[in-house]
Amino acid sequence: MAKGILFGTLTGALVFAFYLGYDPLPLVLLLIVAGAVVTFFHTRSGKGISLAGTEGKKRTSCIPDTSFDDIGGQDRAKQELKEALDFLIHRTQIDSYGIRPIKGILLTGPPGTGKTLMAKAAAHYTDSVFVSASGSEFVEMYVGVGAQRIRQLFREARRRAKKSGKTSGVVFIDEIDAIGGRREGGTQHREYDQTLNQLLTEMDGITSDQDVRILVIAATNRKELLDSALLRPGRFDRHIEVDLPDKRARKQILQLHTRNKPLDDRVDLEKIASETFGFSGAQLESLTNEAAIYALRDGEKTIGPQHFSAAIDKVMMGEKTDKKASTEERERVAIHELGHAIVAEVVHPGSVSQVSLSPRGQALGYVRQHPGEDRYLYTREHIEGRIMVCLAGTAAEQEFYGNRSTGARNDFEQAHRYIRMLIQTGLSDLGIVDPELVSKEQMREEGMRILKEIEERTSSILSRYRPVMEQSLEILLKEEVLSGEEFRRLLKAQSLTEARV
Ligand code: ATP
Repeated sequence: MAKGILFGTLTGALVFAFYLGYDPLPLVLLLIVAGAVVTFFHTRSGKGISLAGTEGKKRTSCIPDTSFDDIGGQDRAKQELKEALDFLIHRTQIDSYGIRPIKGILLTGPPGTGKTLMAKAAAHYTDSVFVSASGSEFVEMYVGVGAQRIRQLFREARRRAKKSGKTSGVVFIDEIDAIGGRREGGTQHREYDQTLNQLLTEMDGITSDQDVRILVIAATNRKELLDSALLRPGRFDRHIEVDLPDKRARKQILQLHTRNKPLDDRVDLEKIASETFGFSGAQLESLTNEAAIYALRDGEKTIGPQHFSAAIDKVMMGEKTDKKASTEERERVAIHELGHAIVAEVVHPGSVSQVSLSPRGQALGYVRQHPGEDRYLYTREHIEGRIMVCLAGTAAEQEFYGNRSTGARNDFEQAHRYIRMLIQTGLSDLGIVDPELVSKEQMREEGMRILKEIEERTSSILSRYRPVMEQSLEILLKEEVLSGEEFRRLLKAQSLTEARV
């Protein structure tokens, strides 16, 4: 408001000066320079930094509301974190044994797995104030600014703790790799070095006899990039892995995020959990939110299975696009996708959730598959099955049209990744090999052999199931979507007919 009035007055004054015949240019230049100086000092003083807990000036407490109960799954990580935090809670006992305080805990894991939630829950559990900043906020072009911001962050944590009568504070630094990356020789990294040195100095200054004991929790997706000075004992010496959730954890996360949402009785969270292998907590939260938005758009009172199904597609593949394919192209895409679907059902029965012909993200159509149970180990047969599914789109085009299109690039890239996996893990006919000693020629030959053999097997499955392909094609072109259940019914019907003949 005040800025608006000031801006209006200045503009008015400039117009008036111009009207009186004065040249306003020097004044405009003066104002620009003054603005730049004010912005520079504002940044230098570190006021630009965002400190969690300051949002909402009415907040009286800086203790986060998030508790460990609000985090789905992650049982092992929560347990390890709690054990470390108990050192902060039972201070006198720890002091009497002469145990030095834990200064830093490093949370590592893929994006969106709940590392920030963990840090907040840690502050809640230990009744500590919570301040946070992201590593990238410390990366400045001016030498010394990052270091000053680090000092300010720790000072702020102490100030807030004292103000709210607490004896401990959690300083959370997300994306620590932005400032804690490995230091190399040379002078070009002086700013990073100063920031990192300041962080190390602050951590070294944490002692057991302080009024306010600070615990630094940092998070990164790339632990291997961190400077060893950060990881040595006495600094971040507790490392906790926060993994992608398994099926049970996914169900728990879905339960947590649907607590406040009106669910239809037909919604089966167990089924959704098994269809969302590889989803992070953040993606699951987004999934429940998108499902609710679809229900609202449809004007329904409750969120149904169809809304969750559309939301899974959106989170996996992106928003629907307006790409308008010609009738001829739509048919080719349908045949390609049905090729994937038929082979997927034959090699991994029950794995197709849906075949869809609506364009999303980069794709013109797609098959949503799920592995049933979460898998972390694969046999040769399983990987060969995956390669067959990858090749089946093009093989179906070949079967129907006698030619191929350009739409299979991603399929081939994936197939080649699986083939490399077969060779490097000793599952190919080359036997157990040292990947470093296998020549490019050997790799190429073995790769081609595997590819050719699997291509033949894929084509023979597709020609066997041509009747199902034709029936499904009709439905898909009309309805745009074919559910996994309906598709399996058609496959089963053909198998029964064949058995009778
Ligand atoms: P990044 O590495 O990208 O910073 P992160 O690991 O810190 O991500 P969070 O910011 O903690 O992830 O999680 C983002 C959101 O995802 C949370 O606000 C929450 O809604 C949801 N979420 C993630 N993991 C969980 C979980 N285990 N339980 C419940 N919700 C979760």
